[in-house]
Amino acid sequence: MTCEDCALFDAENGRCRSGKVNPKSRVQASELVSVLGIRALCTFNQHREALISVRSPKADQLSVSTGSESRTA
Ligand code: SF4
Repeated sequence: MTCEDCALFDAENGRCRSGKVNPKSRVQASELVSVLGIRALCTFNQHREALISVRSPKADQLSVSTGSESRTA
């Protein structure tokens, strides 16, 4: 969705009423997330899900420490 089509867009001031940013290119979206974090990126941004999946570890890559690894006899 573009900002111009969004109910949260303040046309008079040319900005989002929620304070979000909605860049059109993936490069711009990636740079925004690197600097300001994912919360700054509009939830309607077309690149959001891809950027989240790139930055999140897969469930099978997660490891949970049991604390027993450091205990050796
Ligand atoms: S940044 Fe997102 S929420 Fe804000 S006006 Fe644009 S489309 Fe709407």
